[in-house]
Amino acid sequence: MSDLTTKTAVEIAALVAGGETSAVEVTQAHLDRIAAVDDRVHAFLHVDAEGALAAARAVDERRAAGEPLGPLAGVPVAVKDVLATKGVPTTVGSKILEGWRPPYDATIVERLRAAGTVMLGKTNMDEFAMGSSTEYSAYGPSRNPWDLSRIPGGSGGGSSAALAAYEAPLAIGSDTGGSIRQPGAVTGTVGAKPTYGGTSRYGLVAFSSSLDTPGPCARTVLDAALLHEAIGGHDPRDSTSIPQPVPDVVAAAKRGASGDLTGVKLGIVTEFSGEGAEPGVMAVFRDTVDTLTKLGAEIVEISCPHFTYALPAYYLIAPSECSSNLARFDGVRFGLRVGDDGNRSLEEVMSLTREAGFGPEVKRRIMIGTYALSSGYYDAYYGQAQKVRTLITRDFTAAFEQVDALISPTTPFVAFPIGARTSDPYQMYLADLFTIPTNLYGGPGISVPCGLSDGLPVGLQVMAPTMADDRMYRVAAALESAVGTFTPPAL
Ligand code: GLN
Repeated sequence: MSDLTTKTAVEIAALVAGGETSAVEVTQAHLDRIAAVDDRVHAFLHVDAEGALAAARAVDERRAAGEPLGPLAGVPVAVKDVLATKGVPTTVGSKILEGWRPPYDATIVERLRAAGTVMLGKTNMDEFAMGSSTEYSAYGPSRNPWDLSRIPGGSGGGSSAALAAYEAPLAIGSDTGGSIRQPGAVTGTVGAKPTYGGTSRYGLVAFSSSLDTPGPCARTVLDAALLHEAIGGHDPRDSTSIPQPVPDVVAAAKRGASGDLTGVKLGIVTEFSGEGAEPGVMAVFRDTVDTLTKLGAEIVEISCPHFTYALPAYYLIAPSECSSNLARFDGVRFGLRVGDDGNRSLEEVMSLTREAGFGPEVKRRIMIGTYALSSGYYDAYYGQAQKVRTLITRDFTAAFEQVDALISPTTPFVAFPIGARTSDPYQMYLADLFTIPTNLYGGPGISVPCGLSDGLPVGLQVMAPTMADDRMYRVAAALESAVGTFTPPAL
């Protein structure tokens, strides 16, 4: 493995800025690594070697011309295939968008380019970001670098697998119910879901618009914070974007790195007492609580009584929004078109296209959502779920009157074997038991590696109030300074 691929984004940027290496060399090292391991890991759906090298050359030219470089200039990044990339295939892990090359960049992608990062390619994901393992990708699963027979989490498992396999030092994910944090947890990497509206959804293929939140993935907390800062902030092209600057997540990560949490009050959620979670995960969590106490944090228990209903509420709200959002995939405007032989009606062509283009989990969600929104059932299902959402938000608001942040394990179980949960959707849905409340509330959450159970990574989740993303970075960085980072066995 080339030395350059094991470096952090901060280290790479410093080497490039100092002229000790070039952005082209850095990019080539990562492309070589992808060529060496990705047939086994399958983190990428598309590698854009030409585009990456061109972007790297541009950074090297700017440096040669003495132009100022940003803190991430020359650093490679892998982008989840949910974001539109101009001229570069964007599939959302679905056959229905196979071959689609968007005519524009998502705002996040624009900002990545402006920051001088080098996009290596697009990463694998569960189809339309629905899933927890990448097994619902129409292009086959990604594999966990810690154990190639296991899942790397989902839906953004390609991004987290790319980090853990040293194919990229930075990656972008999107989190609707846990799809940044859960893959981070099970691959021993860092994943942050920003405050909803803190990162732009413009050019993010919509799953559940009131929940979808793009965000940073990295191998260290500081790298994640730098990426968060680069992509975050107001975007007039997204109607739910918050017109405020990004909280100072970089300063918070640096402050946390001192390992001092004196004066910080953290809450353990009573309702996440471990029911449904693996004992090994809960044991690591308890050790982590001890570590946080030693770092100076005060830890109290807090009841959030409605968190118990988060999973069912989410599985009504998210499918309802998806049933509406995915209506646009009709075989006319984008990608796949099936059965258009001149003899069929438009409706038949749409139906055949959707039948062939969507996988079983996406169809299940569309059907659940359509049912939950149908007249006669709307109040009983969708309306009820929205009320629960309000109650969960109130639980968070009340909790944050008493503590600075809440903590829990990120996920109830470590990476499971490929195939273990695909036959029972509910078993798959449980992966997000601890992450979903944050999405319903809209606040930020981060997963930071905190230990191993049976040799597999466990993540700590830190949940903060909306627009207090900096707080979670401080706690995560402090923990990282105490427990270090986690390296999988060599591939
Ligand atoms: N696993 C959850 C789901 O299947 C969350 C997905 C996500 O965050 N995109 O809906």
